[in-house]
Order: sequence, then structure tokens, then C-alpha cells
Amino acid sequence: MTIKNDVLNRYLFDDLHVRGELVQLQQTYKDIVSLHDYSPAVSQLLGELVAATCLLTATLKFEGEIAVQLQGDGPIGYLAVNGNHKQEMRGIVRLSQETEETTLQGLIGKGTMVITIRPEQGEPYQGVVALDRETLADCLAHYFEVSEQIPTKIWLFSDNEKQQAAGSLVQLLPDGGDKEKQQLDFEHLCQLTNTIKSEEIFTLDAEALLYRLYHQEKVQLFEPQNVSYQCSCSEDKCLTAIAQINPVELKSIIKEQGNVSMTCDYCMTTYVFDELKLQPFLNDVKH
Ligand SMILES: [Zn+2]
Repeated sequence: MTIKNDVLNRYLFDDLHVRGELVQLQQTYKDIVSLHDYSPAVSQLLGELVAATCLLTATLKFEGEIAVQLQGDGPIGYLAVNGNHKQEMRGIVRLSQETEETTLQGLIGKGTMVITIRPEQGEPYQGVVALDRETLADCLAHYFEVSEQIPTKIWLFSDNEKQQAAGSLVQLLPDGGDKEKQQLDFEHLCQLTNTIKSEEIFTLDAEALLYRLYHQEKVQLFEPQNVSYQCSCSEDKCLTAIAQINPVELKSIIKEQGNVSMTCDYCMTTYVFDELKLQPFLNDVKH
């Protein structure tokens, strides 16, 4: 049996005050990782963060985007994934040195996770937590605990050999009645989800997996959403950045290089602008 790849599923437990999500990625993992020459462990951590960002964006109740950034003093200086409500993902790793490390602590060192949420309507907001738990999934659960104050548990899987990443999220719904009972239900579902194995989440489709995990519960599965790799860079965004450069400096770059070029760190696309195209930004220069 093969899974329908690159899909996000949301579900509700009928009699319990709990929601769930499941994400399974293959092509998105390949697309994001293949653009760069990362080591397997670095690719795997990036894959975990892509799966995590899918789960996070699926918790949004509005249209917008999320950026999840890991920063630390370890071999990975910076790791970022951006996603939006259409489940379009992109990601990047900046290494400060080559590494054989494989654990989160070994790769990131002492660091923080910054989660920035940008609604299409309204002000952006940001949450920061220390990356002081053993796994990325535990750090994210900690984020929900301090920022959102909603009991949430996350499971993440990533395998560079299989070029697959996946994840699951279980979250208590807010505004319930019997808090004590709901907490127990939540913990019960977490225990069941905890039995999930990587070979299952990488091979079973959502229905089979949910049956395997929760066959004694009534689960309501919603319409799945496709996940894809999509870089949000564009010529217009480059020109917006170029407009910030001092015209004198811009003129000297054109004189030296013949044009101005910008390469997107995420997708490696290079945008080249000649003098004619940059004319609106050169107006202040006196000849
Ligand atoms: Zn790009």
C-alpha cells in the first residue's frame, strides 16, 4: 500500500474534546532538500521542521503565513521554514560549519525557536521558546504550552534515505466543559498516538493509520489538503529590496558588474536587473 503523498489531514474525535492533524510528505521533502547539498542529518531536521510547519499552519483559523526559525550557536546557525494556509512550504538551512552531529542539541547548540505568524488581515505576532528539549517535537509542545496555553502534543518523523517526512498533532479544544475529563481524554489519545511507528506513518494512508491508532474512537476525518513546495520570491520582491539601496551605491554596482543580480537563498533562483530596468531607482544620481 502506498500513501497519497504530500497531504494534510485534519480530524475530530466525536465524543472527546480533542482535534488532530496528520501530515505526510514526500515530493515536498525532495523539492526542498534537493536544491542544496545538506548532510543527511541536516536534511532530516529540515524535513522535521517542514512537517512541523504544516501542522502549525493547519492550526491557524485565518489566512496567512507562519515562519518557524531555529537559531543557535551550533553547526546549524539558522534553519527556517515558511508555510501558508494553502500549505505551500519552503525551507532553508545556513550552516556555520560542516558537522557529523545528528541530534537537535548537537546541530543547533544553545538556541531558540522563533515562530512568527502573519495574518493576511491584521498584525503579525511572534512567540519565542528556548530549544532546550531533546526533540523538535517537544520544543513545539513547549511553545504551545507557553504561547497558546493549549495542551498540544506533536510527533515528527523524517527519513532522508526514504526522502519522507511526516507528523501528527493532537490538541485539546478550547472552551470545553469538564476540564478534568477532557485532560484525561487528551492524555489517553496522546498515549495511543505515541504508538505510531515511522514505517506506518510513511506507508499507511490517513484512514488506515487513524483506524490503526484510534479504532475504538469515533473519528471524523475532514477533506484532505495538498501540501507543496513553493518559493515566495519574485522579481517584484527583489525590486522592493533594491529600492532600499542608495542610488549612488546602486550606480557603482552597475558600473562594476554591468547589472544587479540577486539570488534567492531558498530556491537558488537568480534575478538579474540591467540599468534600464533599474532606471526608476537611479533618478537621484547626478551625472
Ligand atoms: Zn525563491
